[in-house]
Amino acid sequence: MTARLRTPTARVCERCDRAERWDDDLEAWQLAEEDGDKLVGNPHCLHEWDINGTFNPVVENGT
Ligand SMILES: [Zn+2]
Repeated sequence: MTARLRTPTARVCERCDRAERWDDDLEAWQLAEEDGDKLVGNPHCLHEWDINGTFNPVVENGT
């Protein structure tokens, strides 16, 4: 899978395993499904998104 855009297209919660994918048409995050099962995770979770490693807001530069 090659990413032409720099925007993330998928994200998974590190806490409850909720998975979402970016829908370009709706311009919104949609719940991902796997084998017909919706990966809802824990609805009460304060999701901690792991966005495919494409986002690195803080990069430590040890010089
Ligand atoms: Zn979560």
